[in-house]
Amino acid sequence: MLEEMGLTPVWQLRRDPTEAPISEDAAIAEASTAVEEAPVTGHRSPVTDTGDRRATIMRMEWPALKAAVSGCTECALHAKRNKTVFGVGDENADWLFVGEGPGADEDAQGEPFVGQAGKLLDSMLAAIRLNRSENVYIANVVKCRPPGNRNPEQGEALACEPYLNRQIDLIRPKLIVALGKVAAANLLATDASVASMRGRVHQYRGTALIVTYHPAYLLRSLQDKAKAWADLCFAVRTMRDLQKGAAAPN
Ligand code: URA
Ligand code: SF4
Repeated sequence: MLEEMGLTPVWQLRRDPTEAPISEDAAIAEASTAVEEAPVTGHRSPVTDTGDRRATIMRMEWPALKAAVSGCTECALHAKRNKTVFGVGDENADWLFVGEGPGADEDAQGEPFVGQAGKLLDSMLAAIRLNRSENVYIANVVKCRPPGNRNPEQGEALACEPYLNRQIDLIRPKLIVALGKVAAANLLATDASVASMRGRVHQYRGTALIVTYHPAYLLRSLQDKAKAWADLCFAVRTMRDLQKGAAAPN
């Protein structure tokens, strides 16, 4: 499997031979979000009421959704952002990678994962023969940079959630890969550690989701790179099953 996927010079495999194989026990954590029906009000209309706002967003097509995010002032993060970071990639991708939120480079460029962590993410994608323009979409839990790269607050993540949910409904990925604890915590509504969530197939609103380490964390924690590699292999196997139309491994 490792050879088959190929390794890039940047994404070096440091395999820990003492590491136990990861479990593939499937734990289904349903995190469903009710969507209320509401009339479409047009993407430039101010949407103030929470229920209406969510329902309106959930009916947007790509251009309206992109416009809504770029003009969004729904949470405090809008005040200090330079650029909103909507997401990038293939809008019909089978793979969706979800990070936490933009950092300084992303805030300056308006594209997710373009800094150091982004380079590692690109190498991780290349290692499983993917790239950000083909069959992969990359987005974040929040679309605006939290000042000083702090974690997004729960209210900020909640305010931004309809955008990601709408992106997911439009993309209809087969598999979501949550990058790091903050992404996983928000998507699965849990405070569990990445270590305890990896190696299993979770569900997010009916879509298979797996959890792995955030590339920024991997840059500081070399010993977990082997685990992240194992997670990517698990993700590839899970994707194969999903593409075959079989149930996710359990
Ligand atoms: N970290 C993230 O979680 N997302 C980005 O877009 C960049 C760094
Ligand atoms: Fe709007 Fe999301 Fe930015 Fe908050 S983080 S202002 S909800 S786009």
